[in-house]
Amino acid sequence: MNGLRESKATCCYCGVGCGVIVETDGQRVTGVRGDPDHPANFGRLCTKGSTLHLSADPLLQQQARALHPEMRLHRGEPRGRASWEETSGHLAARITDTVRRHGPDSIGFYISGQLLTEDYYVFNKLAKGLLGTNNIDTNSRLCMSSAVAGYKQTLGADAPPACYEDIDHASLIFIAGSNTAYAHPILYRRIEAARKRNPALKMIVADPRRTDTARDADLHLAILPGTDVALFNGMLHLCLWEDLIDQAYIDAHTEGFADLKRTVRDYTPKFVADTCGISEDDLVKAARWFGEAPAALSLYCQGLNQSSSGTAKNAALINLHLATGQIGKPGAGPFSLTGQPNAMGGREVGGLANLLSGHRDMANPGHRAEVAKLWGVDDVPATPGKTAVEMFEAVRKGEIKILWIACTNPAQSLPDQKLVQEALQKAELVILQEAYRTTATAQFADVLLPATTWAEKEGTVTNSERRITRFKPVLPRPGETRHDWEIAVDVARRIEALLGRTGTLFPYADVEQIWNEHRESTRGRDLDITGLSYRILEEQGPQQWPFPEGATAGRARLYEDGVFPTASGRAKFVNTVYQPVAEPADARYPFRLTTGRLRDQWHGMSRTGTVAQLFSHAAEPAVVMARLDMDRRLIRDGDLVHVTSRRGSQILPAIAGDDMRAGQAFVAMHWGEEYVSGRGGHGVNALTTSAFCPSSKQPELKHAAVKILKA
Ligand code: SF4
Repeated sequence: MNGLRESKATCCYCGVGCGVIVETDGQRVTGVRGDPDHPANFGRLCTKGSTLHLSADPLLQQQARALHPEMRLHRGEPRGRASWEETSGHLAARITDTVRRHGPDSIGFYISGQLLTEDYYVFNKLAKGLLGTNNIDTNSRLCMSSAVAGYKQTLGADAPPACYEDIDHASLIFIAGSNTAYAHPILYRRIEAARKRNPALKMIVADPRRTDTARDADLHLAILPGTDVALFNGMLHLCLWEDLIDQAYIDAHTEGFADLKRTVRDYTPKFVADTCGISEDDLVKAARWFGEAPAALSLYCQGLNQSSSGTAKNAALINLHLATGQIGKPGAGPFSLTGQPNAMGGREVGGLANLLSGHRDMANPGHRAEVAKLWGVDDVPATPGKTAVEMFEAVRKGEIKILWIACTNPAQSLPDQKLVQEALQKAELVILQEAYRTTATAQFADVLLPATTWAEKEGTVTNSERRITRFKPVLPRPGETRHDWEIAVDVARRIEALLGRTGTLFPYADVEQIWNEHRESTRGRDLDITGLSYRILEEQGPQQWPFPEGATAGRARLYEDGVFPTASGRAKFVNTVYQPVAEPADARYPFRLTTGRLRDQWHGMSRTGTVAQLFSHAAEPAVVMARLDMDRRLIRDGDLVHVTSRRGSQILPAIAGDDMRAGQAFVAMHWGEEYVSGRGGHGVNALTTSAFCPSSKQPELKHAAVKILKA
C-alpha cells in the first residue's frame, strides 16, 4: 500500500448517500472508489463522486479554504486574523447582550443540510433549548420542506415509506419533477438496470423539460410548469372513472376520501389536458398505467417541492397512491428523493423553524414538554420561528439583529438576491461558519469561523431511504479549523456562563455523546433509533430507521400493516386544489423560467468548481431556449441576452435546446456572482421569486416570469 490507508465514508454531494472508500496518505486524499458493500450504491460512483479526491486536493483548495478565524469590529473594515478565544468570546458576549436587550428572537440561525446529524443536533439545542428561539432554519427549506409537510399531512409523519430496493420490485416508475439521471445519478443507474432486467417495467416522467430522464421514459408528460396538482387530480379522476381505485384499501386504512372525490370530479380530462398543456390521450395513458400497475413507485424531487403549492403537489401525488393502494408493499409508494446528503438527518433532529427533535410537533404542548425534559430546560418556545425567506426578511426589517450562518451560501442560493444582499448589509452581526472563505456570503461576514469539511469530520448522515451511515475522519484538520459541533458548543458554553447558568446543556467530550443523546430523544417515536449505537453502525454497516433498542435490523419499508402514525391510525386524503404559479408569464415577462441542476456540478460549486474535468459537460452558464423563440428574436447560439425578471437581470449566452417548449427558458442553479458578475448579476437567483408555499414555506425556485432580449 506504500503507506496509503483506506477508510469508509459517504459521498457528500447528494441524498443518494453513496458509500465511498477513501484512500489517503495521511495528509491528502489520493483516490476514491465506490464502496461495494454500501447498499446505496454497491460500488458505483457518478462523475461527481468519483472526483471527490480532486475536490478535496489541498493544492486546489489552497486559496479557497478558511483556515483560521477572522473578525472585524466595524463594517467597512477588512476582517483581521483572530484567535478562537477572541472570536468565541466576542460572539458569546454579543449574542447574550442582544438577547438581553431585544429578546431571543433577535437571533437567527441559518444552517445546512450538509451538516452532519450531530452538528445539527447541537445547533438546534443551542437555539431552541439555550437561547429560547425557534429562529433556526436551514437550506433544506429550499429543498425538502414541501416533502416534509406533504408526508405529515397525509401519512402522519415525515417518513419516506419506500426504499431503493423498491425500484427492483416496481412495475411502473413514475418520476415527477426530477431529472433523476442528473440529480441522483447512481439511483438512476439502478432504474436503468431494473428496466434492462425487466422490459415490462414502464417509466413515466412528468417534467416541463425533455430532460435526459424524460427522453428515456415510455411516456413523457411535458406539463406546463406548476401544473402538477392538476395532473395528479386528473389521474385520480380517471382512476375513479375507470374503476382503478382500491376501495378496500381506502375503506380500511384512510379517511377523507369523500371530500377529495368531490373535488377531483371537476378535473376532467379536457380541463387537465388544457391546464397542463398535454394531450388527453397521454393523460389517459398515464392514469391507466398507474391504476393498473401491480406496483407503482413514484420518485419526486424539486419540481414538486420548490413551488408556491409544493405541499399540495406532494399531497396530491400521495393521494393518488393511497386511492390506488400503491403503498406499503414491495415496489410501491410515494418516495421523495432528498437533494442534500443529510437533509434527512436535519429533519430527524427537528432542525427546522417549525419542527422539534424526534419528529415532534412544536404546536403540541406534550411534545414541547418532552423535549424540554430531555434537554433539561424549563421549556422550548411554542411559536414557530422564521423560515428561510422569512428570516432574511426579518433581518432586513431589523427584527433579527444577529445572523449565524453555517455551511451554506445564502448570498447565492436563496431566491430574490436583492432581498438577501440588503438583509446581510442590514444585520448588526453576520457570523459565517464555513470551510470556504470564497463563497459569495463570505464578503458579508463580520466573523468567519473556519470549519472542517468532508473527509475531516466524524458523525452520521441519513440518505433518502432513511439509511444512516457513520464515518470517521480520514484527514487531519487543516489550519485552525474546528468541527461544526465544536464551534457551536464552545460559544454555547460561554453564553451559559454569561447567563449565570450552573452546569452545561452541552457536556459533550466527543461526537458520540451527541449521537447517544439524539438517539435517546427518538425513543418511542416513529423514527426510534435507540438501538443504533456507533458500535452497531460500525459492525453492521449503514442501517435504515426505525431501529429501536433490541432490534436486529432496520425497516426497509413502512406502513406494510396499513397503520399510519396519525391519531386514528388512518392515512388522510388532503383535498388538493390546483393553484397556478405565483408569477404567471404575461405580456411584459413572457417566458417561464425554470432552474435546476446540471449533471456534473453541485450547488454553488464551492467544491465541484475546483475540479476542471467537471466543466467538460457544461463550461459556463447559459440560458437554454427553444429554437423557435430564438429564431423569432433573431438570436443565434452563443449570442448574449439580457434575462430579466421583476427582481433583477443577468446577461447570459443563449443556446437552443430541443428539451424546451416554446415560451420556456432554463438556467442552471450553479453559477454565482464570481462567474457572472462581469456580465452583471448574482446568478440565477437574481431572477427567482421568494414567493413560497403557505404550508411548507418553501420558495418557488422552479418558476419565475422573465423577458429575454438580445444584449
Ligand atoms: Fe455522490 Fe450522489 Fe453521485 Fe452517489 S449519486 S456518487 S451520492 S453525487
